[in-house]
Amino acid sequence: MAASPSTDTPDPTAAELIAARPHLAMHAMDGLVIDDVPLNAIADDVGTPVWVYSASAMRRRCRMLAGALADAGLDAHVHYAMKANDRLAVLRLFAAEGAGADIVSEGELRRARAAGIPADRIVFSGVGKSERELRLALTEDIAQINVESAEELAMLSAVAAAMDRTARVVLRVNPDVDAGTHAKITTGRAQDKFGIPYADAVPLYRRASELPGILPIGLATHIGSQILSLAPYRAAYGRLADLVRALRADGLPISVIDCGGGLGIPYRNEPAPLPAAFAGAISAALHNLDVRVVVEPGRWLVGPAGVLLASVILAKHTQGSRFVVLDAAMNDLIRPAMYDAWHGIVPISAVDAVAPAAPADVVGPVCEAGDTFARNRMLPPLAAGARVAILDAGAYGSVMSSAYNARPVAAEVMVDGSDWSVIRERESHADLWRGERMPHWLQ
Ligand SMILES: *Cc1c(COP(=O)(O)O)cnc(C)c1O
Repeated sequence: MAASPSTDTPDPTAAELIAARPHLAMHAMDGLVIDDVPLNAIADDVGTPVWVYSASAMRRRCRMLAGALADAGLDAHVHYAMKANDRLAVLRLFAAEGAGADIVSEGELRRARAAGIPADRIVFSGVGKSERELRLALTEDIAQINVESAEELAMLSAVAAAMDRTARVVLRVNPDVDAGTHAKITTGRAQDKFGIPYADAVPLYRRASELPGILPIGLATHIGSQILSLAPYRAAYGRLADLVRALRADGLPISVIDCGGGLGIPYRNEPAPLPAAFAGAISAALHNLDVRVVVEPGRWLVGPAGVLLASVILAKHTQGSRFVVLDAAMNDLIRPAMYDAWHGIVPISAVDAVAPAAPADVVGPVCEAGDTFARNRMLPPLAAGARVAILDAGAYGSVMSSAYNARPVAAEVMVDGSDWSVIRERESHADLWRGERMPHWLQ
């Protein structure tokens, strides 16, 4: 499984991890620097734990992907899957790059609009959109609604007809392809809850073309997340291309193919597809079909751009084991506990970074055995107060955090060159019970 640590290759060293991430560098005096800002300066000012994102990395990645798609001769449009990181500043940055958004809820629609993403650059995915959400999408007149079932299509038709609106609909097809990724982030096999069964796609598209309030314009697929091989993409897009030809043979017009997201990133410096190869896989299947191509990357755009910066509370030694206990925990970054994810962990101090390393388990203070960031990780002695950066934490990091154990949600910072700014304040302790009410019989 791609999301699990593999035991047959040694972990990359801190120097190798830094070298592979262009926005990070180790300076002899300042320690680990992101863009041109020392992480120590941010930690001194804002405290830890804190999420830090590189705007330059996000921008560079967005341009690299859009450029690769254009170079492959595709009429392609990037719709950032904002569930990966939905902070307004992040959305504004991608909006300025011309990207749209892939949303999955009313909250995301409202966030995207609040950040300045135009409605005609928003696509709505998800297996369970409520009537209220569909109504809002039609009122805002977003670009397309990705319908995932016959039942949802009927519901959308009723809502649109009642509003005297027409919904531009893309049918999300389940291509029955195994993306070879972690079970919790696989979405394109026949037994998964997502999408319309492949064999039902053409008949349902025909029915959509006859329903009031519905204008079918295309097909979509999304086979999973953290995908590190192009083979499942090639298989899925080939199957979509077959459906395009079948629809056209039946006289049904189709102009959009939504290729979904899921492109993986090299958390462990493992080989991962480059944007040009991904664009090549799309182009190989779709280039002569004269369709507008939509892509919905989330993790790939933001994952590598962010770090979770934490301080060592103490190092605990028991029966030959060393536990480095951080002030960050699973309530901040849940990916190791939830997906067995491997994240690079790098000391911030240049002195720590070159000190002799020995194995350690890196854990948080939360009362769960799963509150473990890494096991048997080669790390230098890290005394109380030392700082570390947990790498590639820009996607599915802060958005999945909680206040479990009454731990206030951490602050978030964006860096751009030598400039930096808090983009979300740290929660206060009073925030923890804001909104709670004491019932009258307990007062
Ligand atoms: C989650 C999701 C994405 C983005 O996935 P990444 O792995 O972050 O690229 C894109 N499209 C849909 C429909 C999704 O559910």
